[in-house]
Amino acid sequence: MIEVQQALKILRETSPKQIRESRDLKDSLGYVLSEEIIAPIDLPNFDQSAMDGYAVNVKTGNEVYEMIGEVQAGSANEPVLLPGQCVRIFTGAKVPVTANTVIQQEWAITNGNEVRFDRAVEKGRNIRPKGEQIKKGSMALEKGSVLNAASIGFLAGMGITELPVCRKPTVHILTTGNELIPPGHDLAPGQIFESNSIMLQSALNTFGFDEVQVATVPDDYEKTVQVIKTALENADLLMLSGGISVGDYDYVYKALLENQVNELFYKVNQKPGKPLYFGKKYQQIVAALPGNPAAALSCFYIYVLPTLNQMYGKGFQGLKTSKALMAESYSKKGSRAQFLKAKLDKNQVRPLGGQSSAMLKSFSEANVLIYIPTEAETVLKGEEVLVYHIHV
Ligand code: AMP
Ligand code: MG
Repeated sequence: MIEVQQALKILRETSPKQIRESRDLKDSLGYVLSEEIIAPIDLPNFDQSAMDGYAVNVKTGNEVYEMIGEVQAGSANEPVLLPGQCVRIFTGAKVPVTANTVIQQEWAITNGNEVRFDRAVEKGRNIRPKGEQIKKGSMALEKGSVLNAASIGFLAGMGITELPVCRKPTVHILTTGNELIPPGHDLAPGQIFESNSIMLQSALNTFGFDEVQVATVPDDYEKTVQVIKTALENADLLMLSGGISVGDYDYVYKALLENQVNELFYKVNQKPGKPLYFGKKYQQIVAALPGNPAAALSCFYIYVLPTLNQMYGKGFQGLKTSKALMAESYSKKGSRAQFLKAKLDKNQVRPLGGQSSAMLKSFSEANVLIYIPTEAETVLKGEEVLVYHIHV
């Protein structure tokens, strides 16, 4: 049995860092760049008008400008302006090379082809020069950037359609247990509704992991060996629920051995989730979570989430943490580290009733998990504790 921090250290050191792939820009929201992006063009790619108005070839002392044409946005028109001449121009249009300023239309008084301006006409105004935002060949986005709406727009603006990113890990959930019946069916005596797969799938989806497959297996050794084998052929991370404890019908540990999965650790000195197992085969990770629903979800948040994020190129990053003050004293039962379902209100945190690893009611009301390390026996009211924020 190992301590929480040791288990996390092992996962940080052994989970694969990233799997690269090339992706369409339109399908890359939330992905992480596996390489830096170099600007393939200047932005803007020509001198652009920033205003609706007049592109002017300035002549000192001149009062009336002669308008000789017009340039619309998108037009390739390139009128040649002599000093003292101007053209009508619109926002986003290419400024003629012979113009040296753009004056907004609000400053202009027109009379046929004659244009006067009610303020001094200065050179170099209202032009977005070529390459002002970024120059061709310079770095547009750093390796490791998470793609969001703005960065996707920025890349599209440079005409980029495909990107080098870290592949999103695929997940296979496998639930075990003879007693489990999918919701929507009738329960016979001794049976319960299977709830871990939909819970874990929802937790995965919350953090953007949406390539998830689900399978179920009864408490049968041969079948467990077989489904694990198939799952390992299909997913970057295999997440099992149940069957990893010490019961006579808990076959997961043995079936993983049979599949040559190398154990990273088995059993963590914590509550809930003591019989937690992690293993690795080639570049695939196996997380065998306890079957008790609250324990399974706790273990997902604390261990599986940062592991998946590391595989996704985001580093070993789990739930956000912060410090909070205990709203009441809490005495630990036993000597294990604890993750308590709790309610955080401003900076005061209160453990909820119903901490059993079989109970999800308190978990569904909680907004944080309080971490109480192995060494602490009692945390007093007003004492500072570390909390993990469940909701993103
Ligand atoms: P196990 O870890 O297989 O011994 O299961 C521990 C407890 O969790 C038992 O009460 C199981 O019935 C329950 N359990 C296991 N898997 C699930 C599941 N997928 N959905 C709901 N409860 C489960
Ligand atoms: Mg079981």
